[in-house]
Amino acid sequence: MSVLLLNASLQPLNVISRRRLVVLLTRERVAFFDESARAAVEADLARRCLGEGVIVVRLLRNISVPRRLLRPNRRNLLVRDDFSCQYCGWQGSAMELTIDHVVPVSRGGAPSTWENQVVACRRCNSRKANHLAAEVHLHLRRAARPVAHEYAHLLFLRHPEVRPAYEALLQSTLLQTPPAAPPAALRTALPA
Ligand SMILES: [Zn+2]
Repeated sequence: MSVLLLNASLQPLNVISRRRLVVLLTRERVAFFDESARAAVEADLARRCLGEGVIVVRLLRNISVPRRLLRPNRRNLLVRDDFSCQYCGWQGSAMELTIDHVVPVSRGGAPSTWENQVVACRRCNSRKANHLAAEVHLHLRRAARPVAHEYAHLLFLRHPEVRPAYEALLQSTLLQTPPAAPPAALRTALPA
């Protein structure tokens, strides 16, 4: 079972563990969207076995989420680059791909910025080695850009299983709302 935690504004915040869900429920910090979901989860928790599927809960009070700049760690770089080599386009699993420094660190490149790191297959990475791409006739398929302000987008890439539940929920929530502009948080939370 996956638990998607939303802000009171419906902005997706995170996928949380069931332990965290229990803590939030105990402290009365979150609400379910409907009574049947609540009853089902409470019954499951009592039996200490949670079923399949996705549970969506919402914080009762909005927390302010800084527009965060995501860190260019390996996991986020793989997601940004669609698990594909940025030189030849080859797609692979996380295990099969490496991170290449566009300007090699040994030649003054920044070791850990979004702009200077791209996903590369082993073959391209060993060909590039301590060179600039042009020196070994490789070229980047697209510029390496930072991923900022797209937290929800990455969240759903990492946890694709919760996305349909979130979209169904938005749909039903918007249908209940009188015709008006959705809150800004909601618009920015949804990737194109
Ligand atoms: Zn490659």
